[in-house]
Amino acid sequence: MINEYSIREIIKQQREYFATNQTKEIDFRRQQLVILKQLIIDYETAIIQALQADLHKPELEAVTGEIILAIKEIEFAIKNLKKWTKPKKVGVPWQLLPASAKIQPEPLGIVLIIGAWNYPFQLVIVPLIGAIAAGNCAILKPSEIATHTSKLIAELIPKYFPEEYIAVVEGGIETSQKLLTEKFDHIFFTGSTHVGKIIMVAAAKNLTPVTLELGGKNPCIVDVDIHLEHTARRIIWGKFINAGQTCIAPNYILVNQKIKDKLLVNLEKCLKEFYGDHPETSPDYARIINQTNFERLVNLLQDGEILIGGETKASELYIAPTIINNVSFTDPIMQEEIFGPILPIIEYTGIEEAITWINSQPKPLTLYLFSQNKNLQQKILQTTSSGAVCLNETVIHCSVPSLPFGGVGNSGIGSYHGKASFDTFSHYKSVLKNPFWLDIKLRYAPYKGKLSILKQLLKF
Ligand code: NAD
Repeated sequence: MINEYSIREIIKQQREYFATNQTKEIDFRRQQLVILKQLIIDYETAIIQALQADLHKPELEAVTGEIILAIKEIEFAIKNLKKWTKPKKVGVPWQLLPASAKIQPEPLGIVLIIGAWNYPFQLVIVPLIGAIAAGNCAILKPSEIATHTSKLIAELIPKYFPEEYIAVVEGGIETSQKLLTEKFDHIFFTGSTHVGKIIMVAAAKNLTPVTLELGGKNPCIVDVDIHLEHTARRIIWGKFINAGQTCIAPNYILVNQKIKDKLLVNLEKCLKEFYGDHPETSPDYARIINQTNFERLVNLLQDGEILIGGETKASELYIAPTIINNVSFTDPIMQEEIFGPILPIIEYTGIEEAITWINSQPKPLTLYLFSQNKNLQQKILQTTSSGAVCLNETVIHCSVPSLPFGGVGNSGIGSYHGKASFDTFSHYKSVLKNPFWLDIKLRYAPYKGKLSILKQLLKF
């Protein structure tokens, strides 16, 4: 049982270990990344099973969305580690020569990583890759709601890493709050916007910097100039993988009224293609994580007209992939993050209507636009704000390590993946060096007669 004492003891041990400077060695970091990769390879089956037990996550979704994503991030970090860790020489004003300057990344120290339940493995492992690459010690707190995955992570990490380097603390809100009373050098949190605010308040007490990977409502605009079939397929895929429990899933569709009917026909066709006439029996369709979320989602089925789906089965935490037509901006389903397999459709006549709505809402994590019209693409990029934008695609931007992943405003603070992960867990230290062979006295007192010369030199 983890209590304040044991948490404090782990942190103390990690501080001592960090002080040995071992975690800062580039070879050490590389080795640890290799070990982490090996852990994932060794226990691939167990990871898939845990995800199946928690979310009924189909194997393909578990492998692509959690395992391969993490492995690719590790490989990317290993490949770029030397480049990322290398101090960067920068210029100095000629008046300060022969001084030289560089920017040198250094690890922050002991970092806390708190995860959410929807991608419960990768949401703690991918940030950990950044923490290791940057040379930190880490404490992981996986989501207690994804029980099986949390337990597995807590079993596996100590098999491969000593606790004074990487530790796992399992538990719910109470444990999380105990952790938050301690001083860390960085807190990396993935979860809801509501809890994100709690994390930030707790971090402020110790002046701990935070990265907050939060949620929100991701709009998906569909305009006229599209490939209908491909659009429908990409939206249905991005929305219904993991039964809609994806932070970057399209939350709702804003569709141009001219194309709405055709889009609906294609969305419906696609759903049937993916999951058959009885998605309940499809091995490729996940379940809702728990009763609380199931009930929350069932309540959201009241709005608009159900076009397809709507069936629920409490005993199996099953909610059919559902499309709801004729929803209005004021309906409850448009007021909160859906985070489940329900896709509301709202039509617009002019794009300004869609833009005005989006800009009246908290900034989303991702905005989706389906349109080949370059002017429209540009307009959306310039007049809206979101963590990311995907043009004619959904979700896959998160598997591009060169793209920082994170929100803006209510959808988050900071970012990670690839180099952004390394940056998140590093401090960029400014270093200036001056040799002794020259020491111009102009800046030293007594100042008499020196200001005019200095002004000339500095062109002031
Ligand atoms: P959550 O905020 O309820 O919980 C996240 C973590 O915080 C868990 O580990 C939990 O134990 C802890 N926690 C919960 N309440 C707490 C409290 N009062 N004090 C301290 N710690 C607390 O989120 P969730 O339900 O696990 O996940 C769903 C949310 O996460 C959605 O909003 C989703 O959009 C978001 N999310 C965001 C991303 C992203 O990358 N931006 C990824 C996945 C999920």
